[in-house]
Amino acid sequence: MTYQGLLHRYGQYLGLPAHTKTITLLEGNTPLIPMPRLSRGFGCELFIKFEGLNPTGSFKDRGMTAAIGEAVGRGVQTVICASTGNTAASAAAYAARAGLRSIVLIPEGKVAAGKLAGAIAYGAEVIQIQGSFDDALTLVVEITQKTPIALVNSINPYRIEGQKTSSFEICDVLGNAPDWLCLPVGNAGNITSYWAGFKQYKKGLPQILGVQAAGAAPLVLGHPVEKPETIATAIRIGKPARGEQALEAAQESNGRIIAVSDEEILSAQRILASEGVWVEPASAAGLAGLIAESAKGSMNVKGKKVVVVCTGHGMKDPSIVTESFKSPKIIPANYDALLNVIGGA
Ligand SMILES: *Cc1c(COP(=O)(O)O)cnc(C)c1O
Repeated sequence: MTYQGLLHRYGQYLGLPAHTKTITLLEGNTPLIPMPRLSRGFGCELFIKFEGLNPTGSFKDRGMTAAIGEAVGRGVQTVICASTGNTAASAAAYAARAGLRSIVLIPEGKVAAGKLAGAIAYGAEVIQIQGSFDDALTLVVEITQKTPIALVNSINPYRIEGQKTSSFEICDVLGNAPDWLCLPVGNAGNITSYWAGFKQYKKGLPQILGVQAAGAAPLVLGHPVEKPETIATAIRIGKPARGEQALEAAQESNGRIIAVSDEEILSAQRILASEGVWVEPASAAGLAGLIAESAKGSMNVKGKKVVVVCTGHGMKDPSIVTESFKSPKIIPANYDALLNVIGGA
């Protein structure tokens, strides 16, 4: 049968109220891409779960199909979220699909071009906050407590339910859970969802490596970060809403949460691109963490199955790439000039 989206495929495993409607863009069902060259390098069996191939370019669509479907089912007219970008684009798209009004709060000047454009294109009312993501989240929590507007950040439990589906998919493809799962951690909804999903699906449990950016690493430092800074804007979060649960997931799984530098993140982004998988910077944090831990010898992945979750597509944040390269050469439109520039093959 043709694919009909996550609620159709896995709805029976998700704790969603009976009133939930199916609002779908056929999210999920993303590829688990084998990475033979990287596998040889690490001596393990490495796969990329490429979440950038969801309808709006990030894993946020998994939770949004559930959160928006639930909101519609109870008669909500307007949804709101705080966002570093991808939640905004996803909320806007699913709200559009359902015919709802959507409002998104973003930190001023800190949202990647492709995400902002997406939110606008899908018809969200976009508001910039003179403050951080954490300030924006505080505001949307308050307004949803005092008005009938529905909150679709990952504090919303149905987002977590929807996002569990990625661990189900991984188990369905591999037959079992992998030995390790490496992923970026920002507001910590996703790591919480994966761990809940693996526990529920009962196909084995991975050890989890959660990776934060060094300039936004509250879970590694053990305290909130007032002014988080990193080029990986999707994880530029100083007070993770599900921080406790993230630490629990790392501990229970016999894994850990570490921090990597922006340089390590950009290097991992280039490595992935050199294998044909272009992801946004935050999405490369999982691989950056795996590289750092195996270089230190503190993570033994020899002969193991490792899944690295790449959370969002590179096209979301094109300027990170274009700004660090010279612009393409310009030549006259003739054969000799071309041959002169490229040399023989
Ligand atoms: C939202 C997001 C993250 C962080 O996920 P959390 O659930 O907030 O930890 C990482 N990468 C990308 C691309 C994202 O959009």
